[in-house]
Amino acid sequence: MAAGRVAVIGAGLAGLTAAVALSDAGFAVDVFERSRLLGGRATSFVVDGIEVDNGQHVFLACCTSLTAFLARLDMDRHMYVQSRFEAVVFSRDGRRCDLRAVAVPAPLHLLPAVLGYRFLQPAGRLRLLWALMAARTTKPAREQSFASWLAEHGQDETALRAFWRPFFVPALNAPLEEVPLREALFVLRTAFLHDRNAARFGYSRVPLARVAQAAAACIRRVHTEAPVRAIPEGRPGWAAGIELESGERREYDGVCVATPPQQAAHLLSSVAPHTADGIGRYASRPIVDVHLWHSAADVGFDFAALLDAPVQWIFQKAPGYLVCSISDALGFVGRPRDELIAVCWDAVHDALPGLRTARLVRGAATRVVEATFAPAAGQPRASANTGIPNLVLAGSWTDTGWPDTMESAVRSGYQAAGILRHRLSAGAGRSESTAPPGGEVQRV
Ligand SMILES: Cc1cc2nc3c(=O)[nH]c(=O)nc-3n(C[C@H](O)[C@H](O)[C@H](O)COP(=O)(O)OP(=O)(O)OC[C@H]3O[C@@H](n4cnc5c(N)ncnc54)[C@H](O)[C@@H]3O)c2cc1C
Repeated sequence: MAAGRVAVIGAGLAGLTAAVALSDAGFAVDVFERSRLLGGRATSFVVDGIEVDNGQHVFLACCTSLTAFLARLDMDRHMYVQSRFEAVVFSRDGRRCDLRAVAVPAPLHLLPAVLGYRFLQPAGRLRLLWALMAARTTKPAREQSFASWLAEHGQDETALRAFWRPFFVPALNAPLEEVPLREALFVLRTAFLHDRNAARFGYSRVPLARVAQAAAACIRRVHTEAPVRAIPEGRPGWAAGIELESGERREYDGVCVATPPQQAAHLLSSVAPHTADGIGRYASRPIVDVHLWHSAADVGFDFAALLDAPVQWIFQKAPGYLVCSISDALGFVGRPRDELIAVCWDAVHDALPGLRTARLVRGAATRVVEATFAPAAGQPRASANTGIPNLVLAGSWTDTGWPDTMESAVRSGYQAAGILRHRLSAGAGRSESTAPPGGEVQRV
């Protein structure tokens, strides 16, 4: 007999984490996903005959919940993680600088890299060190932006262009002026200042959808193309289950909403209107990826930052194939495909010595308008608790302490599953399940 029946709405990383954690705890879990694809924003699909990710995704070694989830799915063996922090940086005119951590305790592990950073003058390198050290102890004022704090700590336009924008705009998918100081300090401290191993980059060597598929195999049933339109109320103050877009109703002991904020607000509007109100005010930001196939072979790095260019990071997926990632892409997301390809090809062709004599063979672009979410300025992130005992929220945009990332999604999934497990185990709203375990993916 299952510990209880749970519906999870949304098969992104948050929903899948919650579903796997609840399945592992003995619950009979059904996942309902609107799309035909699994993985939500962290998925893959075929473009011109090649399976590409819905945007290049990277993580850092400090993303410990994500790496634990990947290990649970036995997908960690498909991940690449650096043995030490290393980042290649190119100037627009083709000069290269390698930033490397050394084997001494943090934050000293970054000292040689900063002192030797050729894209800053010696005085700029010292000011950068000063700011990094100050970030260890700064107490963030409530409304201060990261940009204003950087200015207070001697970071001029050159420092912003050479260091802060290439590393922090992609990490937070927002201009530094709009990043709350609290979030930026969290990333800076967690990745760079406390543990010399924390900022090691990692990424998947297989299409991201494989992760979602591995998760689905651990869950009783995953329904794709199955949008949920409402959460009906059962006895007063409790969720009864879910109502599909088709009108069909299904009863569950517990429900986990793991959709993006606007859809969550809609789903919660009748059953938990107060929670829904705050969630409806989240804003999204786009990310654009441009795929370039070219005639040269190896460009001599796995990934690199590009200064003073529309592209922040370039990834070599295979010899002759680059992915250019543009975060905070408001100015790019609406542009035609061919224009995006031309802009990115010009940028990498000028900057990368390995491409000087290369020809562009073809290109493609993926655009995600709602790539990341953040609450309105000064608003707190939503909690996993909805005020309804058997209804919880998960999502990278909820209050996990992390910005909207895969790590946050997985953390939120574990958090939501923990709350629901506790509540349902305490005996609330339980009904019996006779359904068999398994890993079925069904279209409704
Ligand atoms: C281009 C791009 C690049 C990124 N790069 C990085 C990166 O490098 N590193 C990083 O850590 N993060 C990155 N992110 C962010 C990361 O992908 C997200 O933080 C994370 O995947 C979000 O997971 P989630 O489960 O919270 O939400 P989602 O993945 O959005 O999942 C929500 C799911 O709910 C479904 N849904 C919505 N409404 C309904 C409904 N009514 N019924 C049923 N299902 C519904 C949606 O279809 C979706 O599948 C990137 C995102 C994008 C788009």
